[in-house]
Amino acid sequence: MKNALILLAGGTGKRFSNHQKSIPKQFKKFGNYNLIEYFLKNLDYKIFDIIHIVSDKTTHKKFLKDIKKQFIKHNINIINSGKTRQESSRKGVYSLIRKNPKNILIHDSARPLASNNLINRLIKSLKNNDSVAPYITSNDLTKNKEVNLSINNKIMNIQTPQAFKYKTILKAHKICKTENNKDDASLTENIGIKTKYIKGEKINFKITYQEDIQLFNKLKIKEFRSGIGYDIHKINLNSKKLLTLCGVKIPYFPLIGHSDADVGYHAICDSIFGALSMRDIGYHFNNKNKKWKDANSKIFIKYCKEQLQRKKFTIVNLDVNFICEKPKISKYVNKMKKNISSLLKINIKNISIKSTTNEKIRFINSGEGIAAESIVQLKND
Ligand code: ZN
Repeated sequence: MKNALILLAGGTGKRFSNHQKSIPKQFKKFGNYNLIEYFLKNLDYKIFDIIHIVSDKTTHKKFLKDIKKQFIKHNINIINSGKTRQESSRKGVYSLIRKNPKNILIHDSARPLASNNLINRLIKSLKNNDSVAPYITSNDLTKNKEVNLSINNKIMNIQTPQAFKYKTILKAHKICKTENNKDDASLTENIGIKTKYIKGEKINFKITYQEDIQLFNKLKIKEFRSGIGYDIHKINLNSKKLLTLCGVKIPYFPLIGHSDADVGYHAICDSIFGALSMRDIGYHFNNKNKKWKDANSKIFIKYCKEQLQRKKFTIVNLDVNFICEKPKISKYVNKMKKNISSLLKINIKNISIKSTTNEKIRFINSGEGIAAESIVQLKND
């Protein structure tokens, strides 16, 4: 086995939150992911043969099980944490004795922004070194408060992941007699191994306080998607039933269709399917299938909501446009927005519904049909 990663996730985050019972920061969701998930999501799974997450197996069972399930490709095992950082790190290192990897990286889960580039540079540097750690220097003037001494050019801020030849860090942990080492490079230094320091990344900062989360939210990679949907149905001038648009019953001739012909909901569905690259509504709900005969189209919207959840996307905003000569849509807009808001679980202020006519230009629109178009923007962060 070549490369293994130990991800330390045992911290209780006391500095982060005063509430004893609150979830530790590494398991808290910010957007769609917690810090561990965010790191793993962006980690190139080909780098490591195995990942051991060191955490409290009992207390965080649910979170850990969920992480293992989501990142099967990463080959994750969970190792029970110790009382101190050093003990957790030791347990992680010992847990790999039988696998005997060539290289091992030890990383704090509170640094979710460490890049694949940094990780690859650390591993590369292990060719000629037994112990490698990333560092950054500060642009700000650094002073010692007590002696009012400027010490700027002598300060290095040490980061993780720190990288080691497995044999070396195993030996260092076995020999070490003290329990208060702040990082793993200190351990190998204790047995006379010189640490090779390579340039770290400013973005790879440690999330310790609440304000670090604001910074994290600004810096993290966000994925945006847009989708467009269009639908049109004929009006049934011989029917006494009501028209349904975005789930609202309107005293006007209904539309003809296999389902309830809710042209508004259909356009919304198609815009969501489009943004998710999932073909179109006809593919998911075939109009030859008896199951969807006269179906309430809110079923289709609910299905779209499930797909969004499955792919971890949320709706930023939705803009729907009806194209019809009659009836006047404006009276029903608020009700329509309420329906969409409750089905898709989005804030009403992020929904827009408007309508336009085709100015009675006969070859375009003789009032015999209603069309709807929808544009949606999605976000995954
Ligand atoms: Zn339709």
